[in-house]
Amino acid sequence: MSLAFGRPIRVMPGPSHLPDRVLNAMHREAPNIYEGELVGITDTIRRDLCALAGTDGALAMYIANGHAAWEAALVNTLAPGDRVLALVTGRFGHGWAQTARDLGLDVATMDFGTDRAADPARLEARLRADRGHALRAVLTVQTDTATSVNNDVEALGAALRAAGHPALYMVDSIASFCCAPMRMDAWGIDVLLTACQKGLMTPPGISFTFAGPRARQARRRLQRVSPYFDWLPRFDPQLYYQNFHGTAPTHHLFGLRAALDMILEEGIDNVLARHAVLARCVWAAAEAWAGGAGAGGLRLNVAARAQRSVAVTTLLTGPGDGARLRRWCEDEAGLTLGAGLPLGAGMAHGDGVFRIGHMGHLNPPMLLGALATVDAGLKALGIAHGDGALRLAAETLADALPAAGTGAAAAE
Ligand SMILES: *Cc1c(COP(=O)(O)O)cnc(C)c1O
Repeated sequence: MSLAFGRPIRVMPGPSHLPDRVLNAMHREAPNIYEGELVGITDTIRRDLCALAGTDGALAMYIANGHAAWEAALVNTLAPGDRVLALVTGRFGHGWAQTARDLGLDVATMDFGTDRAADPARLEARLRADRGHALRAVLTVQTDTATSVNNDVEALGAALRAAGHPALYMVDSIASFCCAPMRMDAWGIDVLLTACQKGLMTPPGISFTFAGPRARQARRRLQRVSPYFDWLPRFDPQLYYQNFHGTAPTHHLFGLRAALDMILEEGIDNVLARHAVLARCVWAAAEAWAGGAGAGGLRLNVAARAQRSVAVTTLLTGPGDGARLRRWCEDEAGLTLGAGLPLGAGMAHGDGVFRIGHMGHLNPPMLLGALATVDAGLKALGIAHGDGALRLAAETLADALPAAGTGAAAAE
């Protein structure tokens, strides 16, 4: 017997859940691509994304995934041979650094390991030591989706300023955009990038690079950028097709517009607060699994709460147990957990790792149901774990919510 019936629940860290409202907005005939609704929607999407990023800067959009945004950020600001510093706190930091290497940049890395955030003091010291200002850019991820480390990108930006270093500051917020706070301009970020399939609740297919004035200056100094990736026509398109260097991703734009409407109606502060509460529910459960008399090798990858992502949580198990647990949840209960990625470069074995994504269109019954299913899987498979996970998750939720209903249920 299997109980994998009913609506499957996926807690992968992207693509995240698709709201019915987003799906319904996409379910329609091909639109007029010369004038009218689609053209208007594209402008409001630009406006709203810039507001959510906290920037007055320019936005280039791509029919592409996050990997393309990594590349777009680099090819528009740097030339082969330029030296950059990549801060690494897991596989996604390594991935961006490798992209930079593959583009012919001279990449230095500061590796902070796989279970803690990048240290702003160490960054500041490293930049001060670069007296000749050879480093042209500093690259970091906000949330590393493999390790679930959350970097304090505000403090890292302050470190650049404290060191008086002119390197461009580039941040990948793909896993954290509309999950964790972002104030691009206030935090001194020159290039911010994200994609639509995580906190933005839209099927994978559009990614974004935001560019501040210093980044735009760097673009203008380059002789040539590959025409598809070039920021300039995309920033301020004179003709509609220049938004996407060709046909627009029509239906994705309708879906994204609906997702942005949902975010704006809920209010971004409420969206961020919801992510923070649901993350604390996951942490409460996971800390209980890791502690107490029954505990075995199960534990959270990131020990310090302040350094944990509010969008994804990485758990470590004994060898093989993460893979067994994922198999059991999928086959027996219809729950898809996030695969364990090798946490750093050259680290084998994602089978002792699993991840719970808690980003985007998610509420307590979805998340607590997932946690309860994991709890059942641990018991069914005889994987040692501490008691009380579900009680603590429920108490965390109860503490965060008002005792009387607010009457704020979203009509959907
Ligand atoms: C998901 C993710 C990426 C990669 O995005 P793709 O759309 O899979 O190319 C890059 N960086 C971070 C932090 C991510 O979470």
